[in-house]
Amino acid sequence: MAYLGIPKNTVEILQKYNFSFQKKFGQNFLIDTHVLDKIIASAEITKDDMVLEIGPGIGTMTQYLCESAKKVVAVEIDKSLIPILEDTLSEYDNINIINEDILKVDINKLVEEENEGKPIKVVANLPYYITTPIIMGLFEKNVKVESITVMVQKEVAERIKSGPGTKDYGALSLAVQYYAQPQIVANVPPNCFMPRPNVSSAVIRMKLHKEPVVNVCDEELMFKLIKASFSQRRKTLTNGINNSPELKFTKEQVTKALIQMGKNENVRGETFTLDEFAKLTDILKCTQT
Ligand code: SAM
Repeated sequence: MAYLGIPKNTVEILQKYNFSFQKKFGQNFLIDTHVLDKIIASAEITKDDMVLEIGPGIGTMTQYLCESAKKVVAVEIDKSLIPILEDTLSEYDNINIINEDILKVDINKLVEEENEGKPIKVVANLPYYITTPIIMGLFEKNVKVESITVMVQKEVAERIKSGPGTKDYGALSLAVQYYAQPQIVANVPPNCFMPRPNVSSAVIRMKLHKEPVVNVCDEELMFKLIKASFSQRRKTLTNGINNSPELKFTKEQVTKALIQMGKNENVRGETFTLDEFAKLTDILKCTQT
């Protein structure tokens, strides 16, 4: 078995198929067995699990996943990688390769068909150009997922796990933390990839909450308020919400709600916790109706 985590084996397979990297697909293949071991261990995969891998590339991580999981479904957009995957994964009978754009796949249907509707684990070295739509798509479409363990740009990992009052805290932190508990499990330098990316990377594991951590009467309204509050970082929360084309609240309504919460009317969004955004949503929702 030629494990592709060993750089020599990756080079051989790339030459065999005369493969040329496509920058537009964010192709940076892993060539470090320690990082691969770390990802697999953090994802806590067992022989009961179905794993969805987004962007298997030449199958480097897929080989490890096939050995640890019951079943692996790998979705790869680049059709020139399909014959390579069929070659590098030929020894496994628990792999299903789908040549498709992950953003166009009905993942709920996939979970239903491939895992009888039971929660799956998502593991990936993500294409960085679509990190946020992939992660938020899984959450917002309520895909039955137990955990998501993914390689992302280091800066994005920091934003995801940040708390109120820090420079990286923002709409992405709140959105992810509403659904899951994030933890950075490894920092990964550029030399662990072929070709080397221009940025540092990190592996982040997001375990989905079993019970909601906050209760809110209107989830959609809360996320609109969050988006508006962070759209202009230097503005007060009141101005951010008032200036949003998506929202119809007056400055007076927002100020009144903040006072009701015991907050200063000049407060900025970056100091607000998820719980406070939920409370503000509940108060403003009553104002609306
Ligand atoms: N998993 C491999 C590894 O770790 O070596 C490759 C990771 S590489 C960073 C990202 C992979 O995602 C590439 O194989 C790329 O072709 C694929 N990809 C890019 N956009 C995609 C999309 N929209 N849907 C599915 N796969 C995509």
